[in-house]
Amino acid sequence: MPDTPAYRAHVAIVGGATAGAEAAEKLAAEGALCVVFEQNDRPYGKVEDGLPAWHVALRKKEYKTIDAKLQARGVHYVPCTGIGRDLSFDELLKEWGFDLIVLANGAWRDRPLPVAGADAYINRGLIYQNPFIYWFNHHRDPGYRGPSYELHGGAIVVGGGLASLDVVKVIQLEMTCRALAERGIEQDFVAMEVEGIPATLAKHGLSWDDLGIEPCALYYRRRIEDMPLSEARAGADAEQMQKTGAIRRRILEKAQGKFVFRVEPQWTPIGLLTNGDQLEGLRFAKTRVNESGRAVVAHPGEIREVRSRLVISSIGSIPEPIEGLPMDGELLRIDDVEHGKVTSFDNVFGCGNVVTGKGNLVASRRHSSKVAKFLVGRLESEATQRARRSASQLDELITRIRERQSEVGYGGDYRRWITRFLPEK
Ligand SMILES: Cc1cc2nc3c(=O)[nH]c(=O)nc-3n(C[C@H](O)[C@H](O)[C@H](O)COP(=O)(O)OP(=O)(O)OC[C@H]3O[C@@H](n4cnc5c(N)ncnc54)[C@H](O)[C@@H]3O)c2cc1C
Repeated sequence: MPDTPAYRAHVAIVGGATAGAEAAEKLAAEGALCVVFEQNDRPYGKVEDGLPAWHVALRKKEYKTIDAKLQARGVHYVPCTGIGRDLSFDELLKEWGFDLIVLANGAWRDRPLPVAGADAYINRGLIYQNPFIYWFNHHRDPGYRGPSYELHGGAIVVGGGLASLDVVKVIQLEMTCRALAERGIEQDFVAMEVEGIPATLAKHGLSWDDLGIEPCALYYRRRIEDMPLSEARAGADAEQMQKTGAIRRRILEKAQGKFVFRVEPQWTPIGLLTNGDQLEGLRFAKTRVNESGRAVVAHPGEIREVRSRLVISSIGSIPEPIEGLPMDGELLRIDDVEHGKVTSFDNVFGCGNVVTGKGNLVASRRHSSKVAKFLVGRLESEATQRARRSASQLDELITRIRERQSEVGYGGDYRRWITRFLPEK
């Protein structure tokens, strides 16, 4: 029998992106065997499919970081394996015999637009942020087979956070590129994102008005100063909040200057405008912001009907539920956010976006690193492991890993696999 090492723990990690790769490397460095289950062929998560494609340098850097961590000693990559889709959480817990399970599966479900019946109009006038950004990032890839979205002037974006600004930018950049292409001008959206739309148009002797496009409008339920575009310090007093409000306003105005979109604060969607099976706009109610900072619909209120062939909802992403895992409404039920311990399990922890809900790479990695450091304390000593486990248990696990890898066509060479799945250029 081969002399197999005694790992200090066998750890399953669900999701191979920023948070998953971080946890895998940290735990493997401390003697754990880490098996990273990733639902997609490539492990880059939101970095590839959420972050708009103009973040070229950031994506490249993140890809490199994730690649290095997933190739660390003791880390086994299992692509094309969604937990809850190809393998149940229960199987992972009971049959594979893992000591610890780390959930690093991010937040991929769009929070539903809070208007009754809205989801019946998905892809019939209503699009959610996650598939929309996926489309933007991939629709130029040769062989792209995902949904195809038609953009229109005067689109409505419901949102207010940083991701919704990206949605607005995508619409404005795509519409401008299209208008320029109609004039025989090929314009790269990455360069236009840096320079801004007016400066780019000026280079071609054009202005926004020359394009004849109605800009899209961002509808936000609170005031501009409340937009979560810059984080307020915990426990900030009134003066600090005022400063944060001014920073938020400046961020927004700068973005408006570069991307020529409108903003409509203090409106919340309350109804659908439909025509047959098509959504043709939204009914909004004016809000006021109360003492605790919440948007409340004013009574008697002002109502506005806004017609548009395109409504994009960008009001946040929440974790996709996995059968067998406890949820608290739309979030994973966690006992302790700092260490990500999932309620009712001793050995299941969450890290990164799935717990923090923060759309931020650094926050995801930091949280994951913290959770991993905490879990290092849970790894057993090698001697205890040797006494507790027979070598055959490890062999069994390795056999399962190899079987699943070969089922999905992964031969164990990470670098070769990743190169195979680079988008064709
Ligand atoms: C529009 C937009 C713009 C952004 N801009 C910025 C920015 O400018 N700067 C910044 O720092 N951050 C930005 N972010 C946020 C950042 O991309 C995320 O916070 C971060 O990438 C989350 O990392 P994560 O590893 O926690 O989750 P993810 O990247 O979501 O990784 C989760 C992984 O788990 C996999 N997975 C999911 N479910 C399963 C399952 N059941 N089984 C197996 N695998 C599964 C997924 O495929 C994915 O690979 C932006 C996000 C969006 C949406």
